[in-house]
Amino acid sequence: MSVTINLMNCTGCGDCLSECPLELLTLVDSKVFQAEPEECVECGRCADTCEHQTLCVESAHPTAYTHVWSD
Ligand code: SF4
Ligand code: SF4
Repeated sequence: MSVTINLMNCTGCGDCLSECPLELLTLVDSKVFQAEPEECVECGRCADTCEHQTLCVESAHPTAYTHVWSD
């Protein structure tokens, strides 16, 4: 399990790093990086903290893609 990361949106602010209870997030070259993605419990705390829509945890927001494929 892991988060989906849109690196284009990451400003490297670091706000999400301390939100991960498992300390899986770090910065590499001023961009967020998720170490050990298999350890992620998809709690969604990192995604909720990011103000730049960089992180997406689908299981934490199960309705996020509802209606994407409907007219
Ligand atoms: S993912 Fe969001 S909160 Fe985390 S460093 Fe990048 S811009 Fe900041
Ligand atoms: S979803 Fe939760 S466990 Fe996974 S990286 Fe984000 S804060 Fe950490």
